[in-house]
Formats: sequence, structure tokens, C-alpha cells
Amino acid sequence: MKLQTVQGTPLSPYLVEIRRRLHRHPELAFREEKTAALVRRELDRLQIPHRPLAGTGIRAELHGRQAPAEPGAGRPCLALRADMDGLPIQEQTGLSFASEHPGLMHACGHDGHTAMLLGAAHLLWARDFSGKVVLLFQPAEEAGNGAGRMVEEGGLDQVELIFAGHIDTHIPTRTFTVDSGLICSSADPFAIRIRGRGAHASRPHEAIDAVVLASTLVVQIQTLVSRAINPSHAAVVTVGRLRAGTVLNAIAEEALLEGTIRSAHPQARTALRQGLERLIQGVEAMGCAGIELEYLPGLPAVINDERAAAIARSAALRLVGREGVRRQEAPSLGSEDFALYQQEVPGCLVRFGARLSGDPAGPAHSGRYDFDEQVLEQGAAWLAQVARQGLLHLEGSTERR
Ligand SMILES: [Zn+2]
Ligand SMILES: [Zn+2]
Repeated sequence: MKLQTVQGTPLSPYLVEIRRRLHRHPELAFREEKTAALVRRELDRLQIPHRPLAGTGIRAELHGRQAPAEPGAGRPCLALRADMDGLPIQEQTGLSFASEHPGLMHACGHDGHTAMLLGAAHLLWARDFSGKVVLLFQPAEEAGNGAGRMVEEGGLDQVELIFAGHIDTHIPTRTFTVDSGLICSSADPFAIRIRGRGAHASRPHEAIDAVVLASTLVVQIQTLVSRAINPSHAAVVTVGRLRAGTVLNAIAEEALLEGTIRSAHPQARTALRQGLERLIQGVEAMGCAGIELEYLPGLPAVINDERAAAIARSAALRLVGREGVRRQEAPSLGSEDFALYQQEVPGCLVRFGARLSGDPAGPAHSGRYDFDEQVLEQGAAWLAQVARQGLLHLEGSTERR
């Protein structure tokens, strides 16, 4: 591929430069100020109008120059989304462009996603399409409900279809994973507070031991996935944090358990939530303690719309041919807030292959994470292509009017 920027220079080195600049300066959820400033500067250079959204987010619009196929027909509108935030992780890659901020790192490829969407802006700049392409630069994918705020503040105004991609270092560069249906699981974080009765370590008969009840609950939770759901539905329940007690010679009065339920099937999600509530009632009755369960804000599953997935697949086929377009082996039990856009409009999230050859880098969300930068041009090209094809599809679709 030899794609060019609007200025006539090769696109790939431009994208690498943007990605590396972002990589050196990762910013956490809703603090993507420098990142957003860079995006605004690049959009200004292209004279693409934009407005702030969701704190550090940006919505930009590219209006096509072509007239609608039928006079008087509505102008279609579609969105492309990139996430911009980094993670509180110490980088250990030793790369020349490694993070300059201790304890902060782009360890999920969002630096790449942001560069790709700017690349798509260059490729769509000639406006050789009918309708409107909305570019959504979203804050806080990793934490903090960035997509939810983008939606609340009008990010999807007029938008009828939405697309995005995520870099995936499990699959080779020049391949895309495109599926309809379930892509990423729902995520239901929870907190359980156990209130027992404290006492001297030697006088258990005067106490309600929160440590014993918390331990019982942790062990019982292990039976949820094995006993409460259909074994063909993927799911996991993890207690990631357990805190109890203050000193070794006192029976703990309180305990706090925090964890997450991930499930790749709505039935499993319901069964796990109900199962957890049942277990809590049982342990509460057994221990004569007070136990509260609180669900923290979670995310629904990413479910790709069939039509949107067909458009996404067709765009990928154009770029890499049949051998480059795959299907996922199984839905991921990771979550993605792209699901919140899909609650509003049909959409499709794909994966961009970016496996480095030779010595494998670390996995996403690790300090050794890195990806093959050739994916940047691939991703930008796919975003531009899927926008063109999506608009054509919307224009031809009668359901829209
Ligand atoms: Zn991530
Ligand atoms: Zn990510």
C-alpha cells in the first residue's frame, strides 16, 4: 500500500510519527489534554471542523462533496471511533519512544487507534462521498465511561452506523478479524461488604467472623461458573480484591470483596447475577451477618450488527483479500465500551492484526506491550474504506428514510 497524506507525503511515516509522539506522553482517562491538543492541531491543519465532547473528547465532521444519488434523498451519516487513553502501567519495553511519564503507558494500542483515525481523516479529506463522516476521538475507554459520556453529549447526533477497530497482537499484520454477533463480553463489577462482629481472637463465640464468611463466599463463588450456567456459555467470575481485619489477634468485623462477572451470553449473565445473590443470602443466614452486594457501573456486551459486520468485512476484503480476513475463535471475555454506542446505533468493532515478528512483545495491559506499526496504515485505510462503503449502503437503504 502506498497511501499519501493530504500534503502528498507517504501516510505510513506520518502515522508512525503521530503514534510515537502519543506513546511518549500517555494520559489517563479524562486527562487526555495533550493528546486532544495534538488531534485538534492535526484536524485544524486539514481544516476539518470539530468540537469538544465528554471533557477531553472530540467530535469532528467531514461533509462529502457528492450529491445524493437521488435528488431530495436524505444525506447518510456514519461515525468512526478511536479511543485515546493510556493506562497506569510502568513501561518496560526499552523502546526509543517509550513513555516519558513513570507509571503511565499506552499498553492497549490506543495511541495507534488515534493515529489511525487521523490517517482516515487524510484519506477521506478529498470528500469523494455523499453524506457525512463523524470522527469520534473518545477519552476514557479503559476506565470512566468515556463512550457513555460521548453518547450523552451528542456524539451520535444524526449518526446511523458506527465502526471502530482494536489492535490485536495475537494475529498477524495484514489480517482483520471481523464477526457479527458477540465480540466482547459484558462486564459487571461488584463489591460485597460483610458486616460481622469484632472480638478478641481467643473468643470466637462472641464474634461474627467476617474473614471466615468472606473466605466461604470466595470459595462458593467458584461454583457459579461450574454449576450455575450452561457449560457451553463462556463466563468467568473473579474476586480480584479481598480486604478484611486490622490486626492478627482480633476477629475481623468487616470484609470487602471486589470482583467482576464476565459473560459471553445474556443468559449466563443473568444466571450469574442471580447465583451470586443466592450465595450471599445463604452465607448471610449461615453467619448471622449483614452482607450487601453492590453492582458498580458495568458494560454490556459488544454485539456486532449483521449488516454493519458485512460492510466491515467487505472493506477488509478490499484491502487484504480473502486470506487476510478471519473470524474470531471465541468471543473475548474482555470488555469494550464500544458496546455503549451499539446500544444506540448499529455498529461493528473489528480487530486489526499487528503481531510483531521475532521476539514476541508482552500482552496488552502489560509493561512490555508493543505492536507492529505497519498496522497503522492498514487501520487508517480500513476506516476510510468502511466509511465510504457504509455511506453507500446507508444511501441505498430504504429503511433509513
Ligand atoms: Zn485496554
Ligand atoms: Zn483497548
